[in-house]
Amino acid sequence: MRESSHRYSALALVRHGISGRPWSPAWRSHDLRQRYDVVIIGGGVHGLATAYYLARNHGITDVAVLDKGYLGGGGSGRNTAILRSNYLTPEGVRFYDRSLELYAGLAAELNFNVMFSRRGHLTLAHNDASMRTMRWRAEVNKASGVESEVIDADEVKRLVPRMDVSADARFPILGALYHPPGGIVRHDAVVWGYARAADTLGVQLHQDTEVTGIDVANGRVTGVRTTRGDISAPVVLNATAGWSTLVADLAGVRLPVQTFPLQAAVTEPVRPFLHTVVVSGSLHVYVSQTARGELVFGASVDPFASYSTRGSLEFTEGLAGHVLQLMPSLSKLRLLRQWSGLCDMTPDFAPIMGHTDVEGFLVDVGWGTYGFKAGPVAGEAMADCIAHGRPPELIEPFTLDRFAAGRLVGEKGAAAVGH
Ligand SMILES: Cc1cc2nc3c(=O)[nH]c(=O)nc-3n(C[C@H](O)[C@H](O)[C@H](O)COP(=O)(O)OP(=O)(O)OC[C@H]3O[C@@H](n4cnc5c(N)ncnc54)[C@H](O)[C@@H]3O)c2cc1C
Repeated sequence: MRESSHRYSALALVRHGISGRPWSPAWRSHDLRQRYDVVIIGGGVHGLATAYYLARNHGITDVAVLDKGYLGGGGSGRNTAILRSNYLTPEGVRFYDRSLELYAGLAAELNFNVMFSRRGHLTLAHNDASMRTMRWRAEVNKASGVESEVIDADEVKRLVPRMDVSADARFPILGALYHPPGGIVRHDAVVWGYARAADTLGVQLHQDTEVTGIDVANGRVTGVRTTRGDISAPVVLNATAGWSTLVADLAGVRLPVQTFPLQAAVTEPVRPFLHTVVVSGSLHVYVSQTARGELVFGASVDPFASYSTRGSLEFTEGLAGHVLQLMPSLSKLRLLRQWSGLCDMTPDFAPIMGHTDVEGFLVDVGWGTYGFKAGPVAGEAMADCIAHGRPPELIEPFTLDRFAAGRLVGEKGAAAVGH
């Protein structure tokens, strides 16, 4: 463990201010060792959270997290940070609800302000079929003890006064699924918080370290090859999201995953007026307002599989049109920037977690457009899975063998645009 002055506090702030002493780096650099008990490929929220919970919950600290770029450089630093647990399947609701519970206590636990903000989440319904799905989701949510209810258009207007709920709107709003526990968080802070806490507990974080090969002998993983040298390890976790099939291929494991780009955009900051997250599946758009006042917009994935992370004019044009259909008074607002990230989509819009046919080679992938909110629970569950050699009950529905067995989870109705 590192020295206690590493802890952030008001007192530490005053001490550093008076003494002028620099803060110690949030995490350290190390030479790559030739052996670790556990190697985690991917330094996003999933890899880092797994490393943290391995050390904290199970005392397993001989762990290396390897990333080919910088920590959080994948989807974890590019997402729109929407949190919710109002999914469609009971297994999904239970799983994501545990994540919200962990998020609520994360700032105190990691000693890092992750700016968790519980502000309510609205999924708009523009037609009868959507209203039926919202009612279904509300019932599944309530049965699992998760706060969700269907509200009418007047109530939507009360929550979001700028919303056009008139009957002559191009896509009239009939109602919405309202999920008060939903909200947003600061994605970089979550990544840095987990990285710093894992480092403090003894985990080694290696940036600029690309895995180029995975060694398998007699059906079991024995180590990885990297751009900085070879490592032997009895356990290797693939937590590389958009790159997960490329990494799984190195171990000879096939995943039912396709990679699609997902774009997002942010506006100039304006006075706070939007106090909930708003999603419209029919219009393929969602919006939230940050603590700094910017509006953050997202959509559904680009319509073709690709590893490109270029933004497109087509996306911003479509996005602007759809946002203005919902809130016409935003027409003078200027977009500041747009960006893109890679999403690992599965056929049932649910993740793939646990063991593979190669002993010791595990996966935590298939996070599509919705995996940031799952970072804490996935980390906790994968650490448990590695420590005990079998998946905990919470993630049993998400194992890879479900595809061969035909036990798909069927989360598309609540995960396609909603994030
Ligand atoms: C625009 C956008 C908006 C989104 N919005 C939301 C949202 O609002 N809510 C939500 O819950 N989710 C959202 N998501 C999805 C979410 O970002 C991802 O599901 C999540 O961040 C995945 O985290 P991860 O740790 O599994 O992977 P990543 O953060 O992608 O990390 C994977 C890491 O693996 C590394 N890597 C890849 N190959 C190798 C290799 N060979 N060797 C070493 N390292 C390697 C990469 O460099 C990368 O850093 C969004 C995604 C995007 C792109």
